[in-house]
Amino acid sequence: MLFELNEEKKLIRDTAREFAQETLSKYAKQIDREERIPQEVIKKLAELGFWGITVPEEFGGAGLDAFSLILVLEEISRVCASTSVTMSVHNSLVCNALVKYGTAEQKKKYLPKLAGGEIIGAYALTEPDSGSDAASLITKAVKKGNQYILNGTKIFITSAPIAGVSIVFVRTNPDKSLRGKGISAFLVEPSFKGFKLGVKEEKMGVKGAIAGEIVLEDCAVPAENLLGEENKGFNLAMELLNSGRIGIAAQSVGIAQACLDAAMKYSQERKQFGKALSEFQAIQWKIADMATEINAARLSTYHAALLKDKKLPHIKEACMAKLFASAVCNKAAKESVQIHGGMGYTKDFAVERFFRDAKVTEIYEGTSEIQRIVINKELFGKNWISSRQ
Ligand SMILES: Cc1cc2nc3c(=O)[nH]c(=O)nc-3n(C[C@H](O)[C@H](O)[C@H](O)COP(=O)(O)OP(=O)(O)OC[C@H]3O[C@@H](n4cnc5c(N)ncnc54)[C@H](O)[C@@H]3O)c2cc1C
Repeated sequence: MLFELNEEKKLIRDTAREFAQETLSKYAKQIDREERIPQEVIKKLAELGFWGITVPEEFGGAGLDAFSLILVLEEISRVCASTSVTMSVHNSLVCNALVKYGTAEQKKKYLPKLAGGEIIGAYALTEPDSGSDAASLITKAVKKGNQYILNGTKIFITSAPIAGVSIVFVRTNPDKSLRGKGISAFLVEPSFKGFKLGVKEEKMGVKGAIAGEIVLEDCAVPAENLLGEENKGFNLAMELLNSGRIGIAAQSVGIAQACLDAAMKYSQERKQFGKALSEFQAIQWKIADMATEINAARLSTYHAALLKDKKLPHIKEACMAKLFASAVCNKAAKESVQIHGGMGYTKDFAVERFFRDAKVTEIYEGTSEIQRIVINKELFGKNWISSRQ
């Protein structure tokens, strides 16, 4: 398969690249230090249509495909992984959910605000006792009249402290043995009675992608905010993660590329033993290996996105792309810091941030171990979603 970008795709990639390199680069260090994305950056991303890349134009989105989304995420990730993961969750997990499963009213109410960057979306699945085993979650909802009353705690939720709407997965059938079959998804706003924010996570990397707890104490959610069918929310959660994982693969490729770019630049500038580092074969080999692996990770990521756009099965390919690209990313970050020597260990060089940002690509939206489990089940013809229920 040949991945020659057509003119439209080149324009999308170049627009994202220009914004990332010319504008976002001026904020990246500040975003990491202050652990927040400034409102002016959110506004600039909105002007480019990057908060609603795959949202249909009738709802204020750019109406583009999954491949366009990952081209943008890759370019943003080359400069600021905090911004790219905030965008990835918002676009892949929240906007996509509404486009596919939202009622006409839900789409009308939330999509224009999400696509315009007026509100940021969050996806709340993880709980204190339910991470990789997401089907064991215990946050519950009980229907009372025309409302559902939600009780429980969600942790590690990207953008929770700033989100205007969160998709919250809860148990609507109290029989825990039903696992995924008793789970539903709700659109929850911070203004709803009983919605509270818990602790903000103190993280190693992607520090500007603020993440925290959502505490639901008799939180009253209107019945019309049920997203999709009752008790079918787990399928929705897993399907969204298939898209999300391609986004995280793209993020991994972007961070890895930034590490390679930095290593190439530094190795030509720094001289030891009377020569530029780039003249030592040990360094040349590291750089050649990084470039080779990034190329393979990028192709794997593009492949998964293209399968998704063609509406072909892509669960296995999305997991393979995330598994491989996140490993490539972590290796590239490690090698790039090594090539920078002591300087790579200081905040004077962006590779220090890339190294911290890289690690989480192997953890969120399913750890590398979970990607391997899904790939294995898919290879043996066992549907991952139904096997987890
Ligand atoms: C920065 C950040 C942002 C996040 N954002 C979100 C978000 O927006 N929304 C959300 O819902 N969640 C979010 N998460 C949560 C994330 O998805 C979970 O951390 C992840 O799924 C792993 O769950 P856990 O941390 O509970 O680890 P655990 O499930 O406790 O796993 C611990 C270790 O055991 C391994 N393990 C577990 N089960 C198996 C098995 N069967 N076989 C082999 N190994 C296994 C894991 O791979 C891991 O290495 C975020 C996490 C982080 C760090």
